[in-house]
Amino acid sequence: MTIGRYPTPTEPLFALSKPQSELWIKRDDLSGEAYGGNKVRKLEYILEKAKSRDKKRIVTVGAAGSHHVLATTLYASRVDLQVEAVLVPQPRTAHAVDNLRAGVGLGLRAHAVKSVRDIPKLLPTVIRRDGLFVPPGGSNITGTLGYLDGALELADAIQTGCCPRFDAIVVALGSGGTAAGILAGVVSRNLDIDVIGVRIVEPHLSGRAQVIALSMATSRAARLPIYPKRYLERFKVDGRWLGRGYGHFTEAGERATRIAADHGILLDPTYTAKAFAAALDFIDNGRYRRILYWHTLSSAPLTPLLENAPQKLDRGLRSLFV
Ligand SMILES: *Cc1c(COP(=O)(O)O)cnc(C)c1O
Repeated sequence: MTIGRYPTPTEPLFALSKPQSELWIKRDDLSGEAYGGNKVRKLEYILEKAKSRDKKRIVTVGAAGSHHVLATTLYASRVDLQVEAVLVPQPRTAHAVDNLRAGVGLGLRAHAVKSVRDIPKLLPTVIRRDGLFVPPGGSNITGTLGYLDGALELADAIQTGCCPRFDAIVVALGSGGTAAGILAGVVSRNLDIDVIGVRIVEPHLSGRAQVIALSMATSRAARLPIYPKRYLERFKVDGRWLGRGYGHFTEAGERATRIAADHGILLDPTYTAKAFAAALDFIDNGRYRRILYWHTLSSAPLTPLLENAPQKLDRGLRSLFV
């Protein structure tokens, strides 16, 4: 399926570079016209699978203000698929509330639960026969194939001289599909690039071993040769930026957000503020000569998507923001 616009640009951020360390940005914020960010590449494969299996609905899980749930609702509705999501609480931010409002306005059927422990009981009754289950963040093998494509797109750009070779890719590490797909592409092309996942969820929800396993499984699904040692060598987790936990502001993230804004890049507190803080730190410490920050947040304005949104969410959904 083609719902996004590719290739996305790879651009230098000279003003934020240091003599010993250059910063570049992969503009996956521009991956979709109506809504971009990293969920679009995953949906290319997820929606295709739902259609080919004759499903009528997609059933997924996420935090209340999930970008994955919003992106899935928007793009699924264009191919006549209904989306239902089981949502768990997250810290209240205006951005998160607007994401859910936009989703509801686009036809999302949302079920609020109090904690992740309540999900297994509810889920089968929502999935039923005609629903395709998609895990949080769209991070199964199917979705991750989209980020393998993203990495191959970058590899082609490097090979044809459209951009230079990088020493490291810095990307937010949530449910892990984005990092796993990028890693699969880097390994399969034998690129000498470290893939650094910046942790934005608690360690037990997404670990290094899970990402490597997902990356290998995705390589296998794409019929690429597997080189187990290369996955281990190339993938690093940077756990320094999480702060109090998923969705919580951090001081470093706020600082990174201000710096990025001065250069026209919009960040969110949950994912990209923390990932960009990590990228800026790698530039400061000069550990890598050339770094690519992989931008994962949509930069499309949310206003058009809020056109049919309810002014106020119903009580059950409001209770998701804590
Ligand atoms: C979902 C998301 C991520 C995390 O990607 P995963 O594939 O879940 O690790 C990063 N940034 C943004 C803006 C997201 O919405």
